[in-house]
Amino acid sequence: MNIFLNNLNKEMIITKSFSPDFLEIKEKDLTMDSLVKIDSRVYITNGYLIIDLTAKTEYKMHCSICNKLTSQPLEAKILLNIPTKKIDNSIYSYKNDLRNALLLNIPNFVECEKNCPNRKHIKKFLKKEEKASYPFKILKKGGKNGST
Ligand SMILES: [Zn+2]
Repeated sequence: MNIFLNNLNKEMIITKSFSPDFLEIKEKDLTMDSLVKIDSRVYITNGYLIIDLTAKTEYKMHCSICNKLTSQPLEAKILLNIPTKKIDNSIYSYKNDLRNALLLNIPNFVECEKNCPNRKHIKKFLKKEEKASYPFKILKKGGKNGST
């Protein structure tokens, strides 16, 4: 994930796949074992290194409704402008930028099949709850004395 400025005479299109190890996932309920595929455009303009990158991979988490392990696509886009003066030894590594961008796009909860089939059981339960509280709404509406 190193960009060597000295080799960057013109715009470069860089397409690569990385092992997900660099993500250093330590969460109990998050697995990332698919390759991270990147597609990027890298160039220098007016003293800035520009990295325009799209990364695609997958992550696995347990469905928050039924607990089934579910695999979800993950995509992150990065646009970096780094002053070349600030780049030590003319080598820039976008590893941390890529890692942060990917991890930020992982939600805290997932549902299998985007909408867990077991959710309907929960909905039924919620409807019952609503009915149970209905009499209170009637009382409020019908109250003659205490308007507002
Ligand atoms: Zn589910």
